[in-house]
Amino acid sequence: MNSIDWTARAAALQLDGRAFIGGQRVAALAGETFGCVSPLDGRTLAPVARGQAADIDAAVLSARRAFDDGRWARKAPAQRKKVLQRFAELILGAKEELALLETLDMGKPIKYSLSVDVPSTARCIAWYAEAVDKVYDEIAPTPHSALALITREPMGVIGAIVPWNYPMIMASWKLGPALAAGNSVVLKPSEKSPLTALRLAELALQAGLPDGVFNVVPGYGHEAGEALALHPQVDAIGFTGSTRVGRKMLEYAGRSNLKRVYNELGGKSAFVVFPDFDDLQRAAQTVAGSMFFNQGESCNAPSRVFVHDSIADDFVKTVTVEAPKYRPGDPLDAGTELGALVDDTQLRTVMGYIDAGQSEGARLAAGGRQARQDSGGYFVEPTVFDGVSNTMKIAREEIFGPVLSVIRFKTEEEAVAMANDSAYGLQASVWSSNINRAHRVARALRAGTVHVNQYDEDDITVPFGGFKQSGNGRDKSLHAFDKYTELKTTWIRLD
Ligand code: NAD
Repeated sequence: MNSIDWTARAAALQLDGRAFIGGQRVAALAGETFGCVSPLDGRTLAPVARGQAADIDAAVLSARRAFDDGRWARKAPAQRKKVLQRFAELILGAKEELALLETLDMGKPIKYSLSVDVPSTARCIAWYAEAVDKVYDEIAPTPHSALALITREPMGVIGAIVPWNYPMIMASWKLGPALAAGNSVVLKPSEKSPLTALRLAELALQAGLPDGVFNVVPGYGHEAGEALALHPQVDAIGFTGSTRVGRKMLEYAGRSNLKRVYNELGGKSAFVVFPDFDDLQRAAQTVAGSMFFNQGESCNAPSRVFVHDSIADDFVKTVTVEAPKYRPGDPLDAGTELGALVDDTQLRTVMGYIDAGQSEGARLAAGGRQARQDSGGYFVEPTVFDGVSNTMKIAREEIFGPVLSVIRFKTEEEAVAMANDSAYGLQASVWSSNINRAHRVARALRAGTVHVNQYDEDDITVPFGGFKQSGNGRDKSLHAFDKYTELKTTWIRLD
């Protein structure tokens, strides 16, 4: 990878920002575009179709037709498997192009687009492809006079609305189970990162997915996103994004056809460190690595660290030594660990939180400044606040940038109460060498995923989603099929 000149490759890219509807690239019906800006240097990469209600309508009707005539939904599961496996292979085959698009579009280091985003996307599609001809339906234990079949049927047209922090991976978490189950999909990528979604649609077509089964309409949330979520021919919305917009998804469903809404929303995850843990250095390194990965723009970033008073000074010292190792650098440089924030708005939001932390009395222990301003891009130093109280704005609100808050506690009860005192409940972590305490606290933490003595494990085989205002659905694992299938009971009389 080191031998690739990514900057030269970026300069040679020919970008096509048109929508993908009914198996073809098309301009927006009104002919409008918006500029897709690279966070690396603030330059416009390409004009992208500004999809609006009429474009969404065309995409949904194309998806509806494809679903209703059964060109995909009625294929044998083994046939759908083959097409999706091929799709996954094509994603891997285009890994350098996709990784470059992802990095240019949303700012993450090329090293991670290539080693994490592309392979995870392909693995997700391949995993659901593999699963679909191995899941069985049920027969109920009824009296002998009748037979009751409990079957799963594809839901119909799925609207997928995704964010910009992991554009391909988030799309694949919807596409994998929805397509494998036989649905048609209209994907609305974030206006901040539409490029890889459009390429994925072309690769799916090349793999043999029939026209109209997978459509992509780029555009703004309040235009294309709203039109998709309100559309009466959409059967379910798979949404990943902020809690603020997740609320709107529920309203749109209420105002339209009561479509199913599966929300995967924000987080403010707690990382609780007890003094009985035997490797505090590893705990500190892990929190820094997990917090600063993807520039802190991860829904599950461990942004609130609860540390016992007796070890807090040493812990903060180690974290502040670790933090500067994630030095902001050129995302196209293969050695860079910390890339650019997605745009100028996000940069200003993050800097605003850093100011808020200082004015509320938290102690800035590392970072806190904008970086690489000469580049024209949007970079912030990895930042650590000590002496944070759980009531401060930086501890309550999702920052979505490289900002870590350290909060001290005295007792286990106090730590659990503060960790759970949040509107969010996406992930949490407990660090203790005492097996009783580790289990007790893991059980008490109100989050969709709890890690014990680590934070990095992740796999397509396990569900991902949140408690409380972090959402309701679960992406990944076989449980994701629940979102994109309807459960049907068929009674058969036996004479
Ligand atoms: P966002 O809510 O602003 O946007 C998400 C998507 O919704 C985008 O495609 C956007 O265009 C669209 N949208 C915005 N307003 C809309 C509206 N009124 N109607 C319809 N669609 C609309 O979120 P974001 O800034 O793109 O992403 C960051 C958020 O995503 C964070 O809160 C993060 O925690 C969350 N996230 C959650 C998970 C998870 O699995 N729980 C994963 C990744 C990101």
